[in-house]
Amino acid sequence: MSSTMTFKCPCCGGYLEFHPSLQKFKCLYCGQVLSEEDLRDQSEQREAEAEEKQEAAYGERSMDNGGLKSYHCQMCGAEIVTTDTTAATRCYYCHSPVVLHDRLDDAFRPDGVIPFQLDKAAAEKQFTEFVKKKTFIDKGFFEGAQLEMFSGVYYPFWYCDVEGEAEFSGEGTRTSVSTTPRHVVTTTRYFRVERKARMSFRNLARKALTKADGKLSDGIHPFDCKDVKPYASGYLSGFLAEMRDVEESEAREEILSEVKDYARKLIKRNHSFNTLNGATSFEAKKTDARYVLLPTWVLTYKGGRDGVPYYYMMNGQTGRVCGKLPINMGKLLTWALGAGLLVFAILCAGGAFIW
Ligand SMILES: [Zn+2]
Ligand SMILES: [Zn+2]
Repeated sequence: MSSTMTFKCPCCGGYLEFHPSLQKFKCLYCGQVLSEEDLRDQSEQREAEAEEKQEAAYGERSMDNGGLKSYHCQMCGAEIVTTDTTAATRCYYCHSPVVLHDRLDDAFRPDGVIPFQLDKAAAEKQFTEFVKKKTFIDKGFFEGAQLEMFSGVYYPFWYCDVEGEAEFSGEGTRTSVSTTPRHVVTTTRYFRVERKARMSFRNLARKALTKADGKLSDGIHPFDCKDVKPYASGYLSGFLAEMRDVEESEAREEILSEVKDYARKLIKRNHSFNTLNGATSFEAKKTDARYVLLPTWVLTYKGGRDGVPYYYMMNGQTGRVCGKLPINMGKLLTWALGAGLLVFAILCAGGAFIW
């Protein structure tokens, strides 16, 4: 059996959840609030216990059917069913938050985490405000009950810092035109251009879970890296979390090719030539990658008539939203018609004036 972690209240034995507005552990039963230090201490203890249990069960597990893993809830003993990449979830029966230790172990242990800053109520409010600002949205969207699913998920990302040297070698031209009484003289001067620059890029992000929707997860960036905390499992309690399935080397390679594009643009900036052509090379001297879990509110909205679900992601730190809103065609048509009539009226008025 693989081990799970549940954080328990020292006063009443109930479960503790990470509370975004307090940035601390809170017991949902007796209201006890623990300091962030306690959260880190308890995370360490639970992780060590889980490690021990896992080692003890190692022989047993290798006899398992094809190495299939099962998880059990520490509160009620029920079996916990997860997808391949789930790292934190809730027990389906007793609803207590569970962190799956072996999914965040060894090579898969995150380097850092940005804890949720927006709790569910704040995220809902922010989302409703975002929708209200949009003009042609379905009315049903304003009703909170329509928000079918609204869940807090930590998504895995790779963050990378790159330092390196860029070199440009090419040809620049400067052209001037002068006029004599009989000729127009165009003079083109050619310059050999060599440029060298040391460049450093910080916190370039790449998603670390293949199945995550790239467009949505790119759309909610940036996250402010000043809030990245050293990883502790306690921050995950009460939320869902996904583990990474993208290797560091793969993310590093993608980020490096992005960096080369930036370098190419940057090294040609602020020149005084009319044309500048040549080749740029970039050599990375130092790269540093970090595996970080980022807080995201995920929303599903079942569309009115067609019943098609719409998906949204909200940055759990800043509230930035990404997703496609369902447009109310009736509303849009009325507006277009109104605008059309107005144009027609102006044309008529203009016509009356001219003729
Ligand atoms: Zn308690
Ligand atoms: Zn349970």
